Amino acid sequence: MNFNECPTCIYGLEMCMGIRILTIFKRKYQNTKKMKRRNFNHTLIKGLGGAAVLGTMPLSCAMKKAEGKKLGIALVGLGNYSTYQLAPALQQTECCYLAGIVTGTPAKATRWASQYNIPAGNIYNYETFDNIIDNEEIDVVYVVLPNSMHAEYSIRAARAGKHVICEKPMAINVEECDAIIKACESAGVKLGMGYRLHSEPYTRQIKAYVKEKTFGKTLYVSADAAYVSRGNPDQWRLDTKLSGGGALMNMGVYAIQSAVYSCGMNPVSVTAQEFSTRPEYFKETDETITAQFEFPEGVVGNIMTSHNASANRLYASCSKGWMELQPANSYGPLRGNTSQGPISFAHESQQKLQMDDFARHILEGAENRAPGEMGKRDLLIIEAIYDSIAGAGKKVNLDLGSMGLV
Ligand code: NAD
Repeated sequence: MNFNECPTCIYGLEMCMGIRILTIFKRKYQNTKKMKRRNFNHTLIKGLGGAAVLGTMPLSCAMKKAEGKKLGIALVGLGNYSTYQLAPALQQTECCYLAGIVTGTPAKATRWASQYNIPAGNIYNYETFDNIIDNEEIDVVYVVLPNSMHAEYSIRAARAGKHVICEKPMAINVEECDAIIKACESAGVKLGMGYRLHSEPYTRQIKAYVKEKTFGKTLYVSADAAYVSRGNPDQWRLDTKLSGGGALMNMGVYAIQSAVYSCGMNPVSVTAQEFSTRPEYFKETDETITAQFEFPEGVVGNIMTSHNASANRLYASCSKGWMELQPANSYGPLRGNTSQGPISFAHESQQKLQMDDFARHILEGAENRAPGEMGKRDLLIIEAIYDSIAGAGKKVNLDLGSMGLV
């Protein structure tokens, strides 16, 4: 017999023992009413210091796993991404569901409650948000707000004992990324980035080719992520206080990610340039940025990101061939080609795959495909690019080691 397996259930022995002890304790404590749920959980967790499972999984999640229930996700910020991508994806997810919402607009609360059958007790506004601490139906808080609000709401969610998914870019500077990571570590909750492409099959195939050296060693990568912005000039993406920056903070993250995963290494230096042709529209934020990366082992790369051009592509030249995705970062289906022929996968919602992957990370200890360190790594690269531009294209060295490489 494998000593890690429980003979009577599908869980590992450690998990099974943990769940059984939890069940006994929970019954006992539930009879001692008036204890706030969070206090109950904390007391319980303290009393069960030996149950290793608790170190990595809050009680409510352990109970849901034991009962075969889905994890509850609350979306914070009901803008375009939540409305048109995340909420529909949460109707298809296998391991999590749309349990709650946080919105400052009462009319949206009413509409979403009726469309998605969300109980009144699971609807919060920005003032009542911290009360989510008492809501055991919500396991994960997904922060889908303007970039400058990611840190505050991710930290408040962690302090409420909720696992956190933070949208990209992780925050508007590295200090905020550190604060989010620290808050999640202190609270013992999981942190994932909204980097949907790491759960997407074409991207995963390119990463596998790199790992397996199917096309030999990557020598050169080129990645573009750009669209033309002509919308409302008062939108938050054009306001540095809310966005932290322009094309680079928005689409640039995808180009950086493509360059990194196409060679499987972090850059060791960057030089960058900024171009502006519509300063009357892009009053505060960058319009177009190009950057050149040096990676270890002599690998080089170029990225371009813009709010004034359309581009969506990654190309990697390797010692024994090449790999290309075009489109490389839209919601799919993506398209892939290589020197050995096209690659093709059935399309599934990337957001569905991403949120299920994160739920499995919580429930089963599956790999966190986009951990907080990856978000922080990208902010370090973004800051180096802005530094280079501020220094008239000077070379900025980076010392990232293997940070965020998954
Ligand atoms: P959006 O403008 O459509 O929605 C923003 C939401 O935040 C709105 O509901 C708005 O009411 C709310 N909000 C709260 N306080 C606000 C304030 N002070 N100013 C402006 N809005 C405020 O934006 P979006 O496209 O949904 O983007 C939200 C986040 O999701 C951003 O961080 C963005 O980068 C990210 N995003 C990620 C992807 C992806 O593919 N991973 C795609 C789109 C957006």
